[in-house]
Amino acid sequence: MSEASSGGLTRRAFLKTTAAATAVTAAGAGLSTVAAHAASPTRGLPDEQSFVNTCRGNCGGKCVLVGKVREGKLVQTRPYEPPEGFERSRMGCVKGVTYPQRLYAPNRVLYPMIQRGERGSDNWERVSWDEAIAYVSDHINKAQAEYGPNAFGLWHSYGSEGWLNGAYHQSTGVGYHRFLNTFGGTVIIPGGDQAQVYMGLFVMQHGTNSTADYTNAKTLIAWGANVTDTVRCCWPYICDARDKGARMIAVDPRYTITAAGSDTWIPVRSGTDGALMLAMANFIIDNDLVDWDFLAKKSVAPLLIKDDGSYFKLSDMGIPPTEGPISPWTGQPVIINPEVVFDKATGQLASQFTAEDPAVTGEFEYEGTRLRTVFDYVRDMTKQFTVEFAAKECDISEEQVIDLATTYATNGPTTVVMAQGICHHVNSRHNYKNLAYLASLTGNIDKPGACIYLNKNHVNVETTTLTTKEMYPDPSLMKPYATLCSERVPEVLETGKLGEADLPLKVVMIVSANPFASESGRPRFLETLKHLDCLVTVDCFMSDTARYSDVILPVGLSFEQEDFLQISSHEVDFLMQKAVEPAGEVKSDFEIYNLLAPKIGLDGLYDKDAEGYLHALLDNEANKKIGRTYDDFKREGVIADWSEEPVIGTEANALKRVQFYLPDLIARDVAYTVLPAEEKIPWYEHAMEAYQDNPLREKYPLFGNSEHSNYTGHSMYNDIPWIHEIWGDPYVMLNDETAAERGIAEDDLVRVFNDRGEVVLRARLTKGLRKDSIILPHGPQQDAYRVGHPQDLTLCFSDLTGNSSYNDFLCEVEKWKGGE
Ligand code: SF4
Repeated sequence: MSEASSGGLTRRAFLKTTAAATAVTAAGAGLSTVAAHAASPTRGLPDEQSFVNTCRGNCGGKCVLVGKVREGKLVQTRPYEPPEGFERSRMGCVKGVTYPQRLYAPNRVLYPMIQRGERGSDNWERVSWDEAIAYVSDHINKAQAEYGPNAFGLWHSYGSEGWLNGAYHQSTGVGYHRFLNTFGGTVIIPGGDQAQVYMGLFVMQHGTNSTADYTNAKTLIAWGANVTDTVRCCWPYICDARDKGARMIAVDPRYTITAAGSDTWIPVRSGTDGALMLAMANFIIDNDLVDWDFLAKKSVAPLLIKDDGSYFKLSDMGIPPTEGPISPWTGQPVIINPEVVFDKATGQLASQFTAEDPAVTGEFEYEGTRLRTVFDYVRDMTKQFTVEFAAKECDISEEQVIDLATTYATNGPTTVVMAQGICHHVNSRHNYKNLAYLASLTGNIDKPGACIYLNKNHVNVETTTLTTKEMYPDPSLMKPYATLCSERVPEVLETGKLGEADLPLKVVMIVSANPFASESGRPRFLETLKHLDCLVTVDCFMSDTARYSDVILPVGLSFEQEDFLQISSHEVDFLMQKAVEPAGEVKSDFEIYNLLAPKIGLDGLYDKDAEGYLHALLDNEANKKIGRTYDDFKREGVIADWSEEPVIGTEANALKRVQFYLPDLIARDVAYTVLPAEEKIPWYEHAMEAYQDNPLREKYPLFGNSEHSNYTGHSMYNDIPWIHEIWGDPYVMLNDETAAERGIAEDDLVRVFNDRGEVVLRARLTKGLRKDSIILPHGPQQDAYRVGHPQDLTLCFSDLTGNSSYNDFLCEVEKWKGGE
């Protein structure tokens, strides 16, 4: 099938022409209308209508965009304007205003298509929806009949939003999650940022403060976060704090814009953040900068543990557990069996919930059982991580370690602002425990101006009906599914096993994900595809993943369908309004599940239409009282609680204490059965490949890193003409001395390589980067590069969180010999 008839142009062909000319040729009236109207403001024309919606997925922003529609086409998007006095809550970025170009992009997939040649050959045939669904369901049914239910895998990622159609953020959403809870196969969860998602959010479950609370901090540490570019909603509040005299420190191998706007830049060696965190903790303990009261009353420090590392509980003293309230998730009573502390007020062991003055340190005994506090255990296990060790490991001075520790402990409240810079090494999972330990030692959490992790706001609309039988299918329909971390997919495809268990994965449907551009270890993924009988991609665009698939099911974008969304970075709820008819024959995710479900034995899975589910979601008693039913949203579009009052998070975990010790830690990756003791405490280990003393550095001396820019959202947006005009070709950032040693000048085409792969792209030189490091872009797809792809250099490896290790690789750079 030709590119034009498939609705697809390759990026290379696309970029060879001017943006406007290509747009007219490829998308017909759609994009030409956009270009013309964008050039001349059109306010006030009688046939214009405005709608609210957002960018579809893959950006934590979920900003409300106002889309202007004229003659049935979306001609402009702009940020929703908060009322006067709340300008700091203004949302949006350059990507958002290019949304019309995304909607009418030449590489939108407009029709279901089946690949008739080799995967990757771009030999597509347009088919009807009936044919496409029959093709997919036949493969699923055959595979499940032959190999069992787990032969069908469902793979989702960050690429969609909304309660009806979202596959990721709204984990109790209707379309995807009804399907997921009944199909009984294998669920493949992306690597992405799972060190943070799994450890920070799911396992440790710390409360966070609202975005406005940045203004209360006296010290802000941007740790591996270029806030101005990647979490920009925070920046106005950080500026407020700075205006009030807050000190800002950037810990980053690169002199980012955020570092430039800070008082202090600490250029740590990539992947060594954990060593610095633990050295700070030890300095704080050794110099008695500890907030003992917080440690005793708000952290797990005083909880008593037995020699096997498990918590000593009231039941160990013969006091039987009691039943608490019914859990909305299990329908069963919560079992209450409190952990025990030594209460200094009474000199007795007591429940952690009733003790007045828990002892943080000390050894105790109960009927022959030796007991010690979590604090003592962790302190003793981690004392090897000294200031001297960290200075050498991180390649910074001891004075810098001491200054950071002292400032963190004594110039509070301190907020650590982070994004994904500390998340993308194999050792990253430890960083989240380490930050919780630091925050516990100094009381820098759960109070105004003190927070770890990214600040979030609290949502207002009551949507918990989604967790009840009202929104979930008949329980008899629900089936258990196997979970698989995506980084293990190649191994499973090669061996048919996950650990010792059989897992004959034969058909995979990828939803809202582009793993062949976005997962680390890309070559292994592509190599092992040959073991799959059928790969289905549900996507809006001809992505790298779609290109290697057997079938593409085209899905709609925002403004093409109605949905509901809550924004965690702002206290805003809104109906994602349908503004235009869907392009070509695209369908919403919800419609696609509705088509597929009955063909694979999931009859009756959806008992309402889309609007019916939105009514069921919103029309509960709580929302009726506050005027937030479906009809209210239908009328208003956006309903927000504009407020500058910071909201301070409270501990969300069952212990009601900040957790830095995890005796019951379970690996997200089921292939791990026994976890070493170090996994359960704050810890540091050097990176898997990208560490200072690795002998491989003789061959590949440079530490590889990647960054998200203002101009891409993972693999989204990089095909947009306006973005390309501003951002240009993707480039590798090099220290200018590193470049000079290799005869590389600004804008040269260079080859970045290691034993796994290579990528050819332009060089951009800077003094603001460690000499031993390079930064590659994280996002653009294969055809943005002359040769290869940045993820061809990275490892395919699954730690216990299943995290993608984008920054854990060594490499070398040379001038490309292939010419222009
Ligand atoms: S890309 Fe993200 S930050 Fe930019 S407008 Fe869209 S949702 Fe907002």
